[in-house]
Amino acid sequence: MQSTEKQRKPLNRESQLIQSRKKALAASNAKSEFLAQMSHEIRTPMNGIIAMADLLLATAQNDENLEMMRIIKQSGTDLLKIINNILDISKIEAGKVELDNHHWRLRDIIADCFSILGTAFSQKKLQLHCKVDDDVPEHVICDSTRLRQILFNVLGNAIKFSPEGGEINLQVALLETGVEQSASSETFLEFKVIDRGIGIPKKKLETIFDAYSQAHIGKNHAYGGTGLGLKISRGLCHLLGGEMSIESTEGAGTCITFSIKAGVGKPQVARCEKNTAGSIRPPSEITVLLVEDNPVNQKVACAVLKKLGYNTTLASNGQEAIDALSLRPYDLILMDCQMPVLNGYDATQRLRQDRRFAQQTIIAMTASATVEEQKKCREVGMNDFIAKPFDMESVRRLLAGHH
Ligand code: ADP
Repeated sequence: MQSTEKQRKPLNRESQLIQSRKKALAASNAKSEFLAQMSHEIRTPMNGIIAMADLLLATAQNDENLEMMRIIKQSGTDLLKIINNILDISKIEAGKVELDNHHWRLRDIIADCFSILGTAFSQKKLQLHCKVDDDVPEHVICDSTRLRQILFNVLGNAIKFSPEGGEINLQVALLETGVEQSASSETFLEFKVIDRGIGIPKKKLETIFDAYSQAHIGKNHAYGGTGLGLKISRGLCHLLGGEMSIESTEGAGTCITFSIKAGVGKPQVARCEKNTAGSIRPPSEITVLLVEDNPVNQKVACAVLKKLGYNTTLASNGQEAIDALSLRPYDLILMDCQMPVLNGYDATQRLRQDRRFAQQTIIAMTASATVEEQKKCREVGMNDFIAKPFDMESVRRLLAGHH
């Protein structure tokens, strides 16, 4: 009798632990789903705020109005960064980040980051030195979006915490080579971002990778930020098979070192992301079918497209879009994804099944700005992707690549 009880106890304890784990996982999943849903809900009105501020900026009557509009736009953009960070943290914690590995030229990824941060570099008159070791392969296989996100965050901090006229160094080296640099070999790349900025006090360094950890409380008001960037970046490094560490001396500067695992090898076929042939027809000659159900977003997108010079026709859901296309052709379709009657994914799949629309350009316009969403849009046959909220310049650039 006694021995049976003794045997049961560990079993009960084990099943209790299994139950608790199940509950914890269910709670964590519910949290991630809630955050993803909330992010989508918040993005929709944010689209109205950011895009309308953009349009008003283009037509502001005087300096005072211009300044007010700039503040609205900047505040909207800052809020969006916070939403994106919170969503990223929850996805990393829930283990829901899917990697999208492809062939890339490493230098292109770095150049992209520099070009996005270009204005910030020049505003602070910073000197930037970039050294990529000779043995670093030109072509790598990795998730470029995630690598860019890490670089962007670390370089962004280096800029933010450097004095005017300061110096930032980016170094890329090979940490460990595969047996052979053949198409299947893997390697570790090490990135170092070194600045000579304000540095981090020693006792803050231990907790600097914790969520919401900021080393310059009080001053951080002036620097902005959420204290989530380093936690996200380190989480992404782990996902990419690497590590991240920090060395810093208060008043002297900071060095962030991170590594990622990357495949090595040239692409068999050149990867063509976008139509880079350039714009040969002006927007005024391009017909756009905008498929969007939300009345505010309809107004916003129509106003932005009009300002950019496009001729736009509106459809309120996927079925209306298919009906409109049976009456006349359109050069571009901008397709929202979540719509009543017929959603954007199903509408695209139906169009792709029809040979007449095999070459039709369909661009997703969606408030779910995740990498998984981009993947889903491509899988159903969409050609490209605009995340809401959008600004006029990004819409202009993206559409110009498609005509
Ligand atoms: P955020 O920059 O949004 O506050 P991060 O997680 O990216 O969040 O950084 C957390 C904190 O670490 C920053 O607020 C800052 O105090 C400190 N920090 C990060 N990078 C640097 C740097 N290059 N120089 C000085 N301090 C830094």
